[in-house]
Amino acid sequence: MEVYVCVWCGRTLKLDSRGCWVHPGGALYIQRCERCGAEVDAFPYPDKCPVCGGRLLDDHCALPRRMSLVGERQAGGLGHTPRARTSL
Ligand SMILES: [Zn+2]
Ligand SMILES: [Zn+2]
Repeated sequence: MEVYVCVWCGRTLKLDSRGCWVHPGGALYIQRCERCGAEVDAFPYPDKCPVCGGRLLDDHCALPRRMSLVGERQAGGLGHTPRARTSL
């Protein structure tokens, strides 16, 4: 199984109905509040910060990076199996 995460913020990305990679909240762009620094990934884009009501600025656009979960799991499994056998 493969997942795609955003290069900039590390959030797990998903495909929207048009086939675009978007952040978990559905937004292509992460917006950052200029007053409190909150990051917003909601879509449709709110016109102000949901935390403090401050102005939101575009922070970055989703940029997918492929991560393979299978490879990590196999490496962990090979390391653990011999120890489990000797302890039994
Ligand atoms: Zn991101
Ligand atoms: Zn804010």
